[in-house]
Amino acid sequence: MILILVVVAASIVVSSATAVLVPVGGSDLVRFGVLLGCSWLAIELTRHIERKREYWRSPTSGYIDTKSVWSFAAVIVLPPLLASLMVVLTYSLAWWRIKPHARPGLPHRWIFSCATVLCGTQAAVVVLAVGMASYPGAPGAASLEGLAEFGVIAAAGVLRWAINLGLVMVAIALSSPTARARDLFSNIGEQVLEAGALGLGLVTAAVVVNNPFVLPGVVVAMVALHRGLLVHQYQQASRFDAKTGLTTAKWWHEYADQALAQARSRGRTMGLLIVDLDHFKAINDTYGHPFGDRVLRSVATELLAEVRDEDACGRWGGEEFVVALPDVGDERNVLRVAERIRRRIQAVVLEPPGRDDAVSVTITASVGGTVFPAAGITTLDELVLAADTALYAAKNAGRNTVRMSAAGTPAMPQQRTRPQSAEPPTSAG
Ligand code: GH3
Ligand code: MG
Ligand code: MG
Repeated sequence: MILILVVVAASIVVSSATAVLVPVGGSDLVRFGVLLGCSWLAIELTRHIERKREYWRSPTSGYIDTKSVWSFAAVIVLPPLLASLMVVLTYSLAWWRIKPHARPGLPHRWIFSCATVLCGTQAAVVVLAVGMASYPGAPGAASLEGLAEFGVIAAAGVLRWAINLGLVMVAIALSSPTARARDLFSNIGEQVLEAGALGLGLVTAAVVVNNPFVLPGVVVAMVALHRGLLVHQYQQASRFDAKTGLTTAKWWHEYADQALAQARSRGRTMGLLIVDLDHFKAINDTYGHPFGDRVLRSVATELLAEVRDEDACGRWGGEEFVVALPDVGDERNVLRVAERIRRRIQAVVLEPPGRDDAVSVTITASVGGTVFPAAGITTLDELVLAADTALYAAKNAGRNTVRMSAAGTPAMPQQRTRPQSAEPPTSAG
């Protein structure tokens, strides 16, 4: 919150400072109106897409701002006062038209985004004012000086982008301390689109000065760019399970299949674990489904923290997780990893909300493991079945335990039984 206030204050101060650099003329106002009109049109045409993007967006990834097409063009061709006004107005317009009703309490994030873009914009203003002879105006003609000006504009664009991204990353890192660097950069593919938006901004700057009638072409290109964003977002959604952030069963299967093929062709090993929470139904029944979801997320976090980068953790379904361990060595190593995971899950302590008594809930998991190569196993499905059989054995042995599939055991589906001795999830007052 403090960071938001600081950035907003800074953006107001620097915007006021640069506003007096260049006086505003009549033609500036016309160009401003044209750019604002295009921006509005683009927002209208991509409104439904933006709503979906906003809905699917992960809270730990920055927002890619295609509005920068217009605000970056404005920074090149318009006096700083109008460039700043452009940022504020496009953000307000977008907020008003896209406003996601489903997520209350968002304006502070939009205000922060707007302020970061304003800060980046003022940095770009300074670079352009110093390095561009015709500032504010169209990029130079196709000459050597024009080439140098293009370099200055590119530098201004990169600086604007870096300041914006830097501030957003700091904000995300501060607001979700558990977010790892990997999460912060998870949408790095989308950053390519931000670069695309800045590139289109440069084109727009040249067009709005020399031939504004070509601008609809830019609007069409922008809308197409947005579709690309959505494709990326759907890809992410099909790859990651929304509840736990782990890969989906389908994606995990593809990854593990490739890893198995490699293990086979290179004569290496691959371990496989299935982790199933014990008496999870009782957790849901006692503390509610939302708390159960929190447990699932915590387990997923622990799983990821325990394995190497090349290992793949997936949500197999419900409260079952799968882990592929390429190049793991022998069976003892698989057993070691499984034991570490089991102990790690056992150490998780969560407090259900809304209870007067200070209850803390601990959970346990049973783990079934297997390793390739093993007699009678050639496919991934057979490997999964072998681990599942071992998991049944772990459940039948009283839960909160690890079992490895016996070498060469034909993997036959069995019935998981619930021994009388098995304790339900522990609650300690
Ligand atoms: P066992 O020790 O034999 O594994 O017992 P269990 O209760 O964990 O197993 P069971 O298969 O009977 O129950 C699994 C439960 O997981 C039932 C279902 O309601 C719950 N579950 C499945 N998916 C979700 C989910 O996404 N969120 C929550 N909160 N619960 C889920
Ligand atoms: Mg279970
Ligand atoms: Mg289960």
